[in-house]
Amino acid sequence: MKSKLVIGNWKMNLSFEEADDLTIAIQEALAEINLQTEVVICPPFPFLELVTDLAEESNFNAGAQNCSQFENGAYTGEVSAKMLADLGVDFCIVGHSERRRYFNESNEVIAQKINRLMDQQLIPVVCCGETLEERNAGKHFEVVEKQLKETLFHLKKEDFEHAVIAYEPVWAIGTGVNATPAQAVEMHKFIRSLVEKKYGTEIAYNTYILYGGSCTPQNAIELFSSEDVDGGLIGGASIKSGDFVSIIEAAETAVNDN
Ligand code: PEP
Repeated sequence: MKSKLVIGNWKMNLSFEEADDLTIAIQEALAEINLQTEVVICPPFPFLELVTDLAEESNFNAGAQNCSQFENGAYTGEVSAKMLADLGVDFCIVGHSERRRYFNESNEVIAQKINRLMDQQLIPVVCCGETLEERNAGKHFEVVEKQLKETLFHLKKEDFEHAVIAYEPVWAIGTGVNATPAQAVEMHKFIRSLVEKKYGTEIAYNTYILYGGSCTPQNAIELFSSEDVDGGLIGGASIKSGDFVSIIEAAETAVNDN
């Protein structure tokens, strides 16, 4: 059984001091665990160095929440993949539904961001997922397939194998309503079948497909023990050290029990 991957997305939360305290609390708690799970913390840009500095001596990695689709130049306010790589960041979330919704990010722009990350050997955590209207209309598979084909499936095998996919139904993000394990499994199996068709069985097996959307310490074990769920992308619960560490412990239990 492959180990799990748990990624915390702090979004635009916390003060510098709170971010410092939270990173240290997570570091101290994880130091007590003989971790098999890979853990990634994705703070806002101004706190990234805080996390990369501690990550060097800890059993977690640093990730960003976004990057520019451009390499460098006159793009005020943007942060390039190269800047993230120089800082020691290893992962970067792309295509989060909040960026699609509030910043009009299209599949085309997300594909460009993934290319920039690949140029720097950073691991993209590529989000996909349907809205409630799309699910109610029975279009959820179609929507996720289009998102993945247009953002990710242009990659060559040797690049694709470094990517992580996060299935995040929009209706589950920050709502307190998580997908049921059955709904997650059904979509994760579908995503893995798409990867298999395009890149073959071995890459499909090795690809990490995370679930995201109202994951809590209470529902994490059941979700992470479900077939084809390789871990989680955690929003709200990742800024409470106790909850985040409990979710990581759930990932450990899910691997050990299977
Ligand atoms: C997210 O924003 O990626 C997310 C999963 O949020 P939450 O866990 O708060 O639903």
